[in-house]
Amino acid sequence: MRNVLIIGAGFSGLAAACFMAKEGWKVSVVEKMDSPGGRARQLISDGFTFDRGPSWFWMPEVYERFFKLLGKNASDYYSLKRIDPSYRIFWKEDVTDVPADFSQILQSFWPVSVLPTVIPFRRYLWRYH
Ligand SMILES: Cc1cc2nc3c(=O)[nH]c(=O)nc-3n(C[C@H](O)[C@H](O)[C@H](O)COP(=O)(O)OP(=O)(O)OC[C@H]3O[C@@H](n4cnc5c(N)ncnc54)[C@H](O)[C@@H]3O)c2cc1C
Repeated sequence: MRNVLIIGAGFSGLAAACFMAKEGWKVSVVEKMDSPGGRARQLISDGFTFDRGPSWFWMPEVYERFFKLLGKNASDYYSLKRIDPSYRIFWKEDVTDVPADFSQILQSFWPVSVLPTVIPFRRYLWRYH
């Protein structure tokens, strides 16, 4: 049996490990932090659990495809619940929300839509929402 060592237990390392194990490799994964997940790992402290990120769960079909390629169903491992607002930024005396509803997102970007960078961003949102 061939051996492979994967450095890093983020999404990429874990996905690579799964596919190589499926192909019959003997896989070892090393991780420098004390828990797996990389950018998406958790911080548990004083009874609270913090997701360190990613902030949004984009492109769920990529994850569904990953499970499918391994002969599994994503729904057997997790379920998704849309939260509203999707994102909240806390300022010193105020909050800024990013709403879940697509038309409300567009509205919230409207005041700055004259900025050149916002036009391609709006096009991107239309394409992938
Ligand atoms: C601020 C921020 C916001 C983001 N927001 C989103 C979002 O909203 N939606 C989204 O889909 N994506 C988002 N992303 C991107 C997403 O988090 C990453 O694409 C994804 O988590 C990367 O996974 P990865 O496995 O490639 O890398 P990482 O998650 O970085 O994993 C790499 C792992 O390798 C380990 N490692 C590194 N060097 C060594 C070493 N020498 N020895 C042992 N271990 C090592 C690290 O500790 C880490 O666990 C965001 C990223 C950032 C930084």
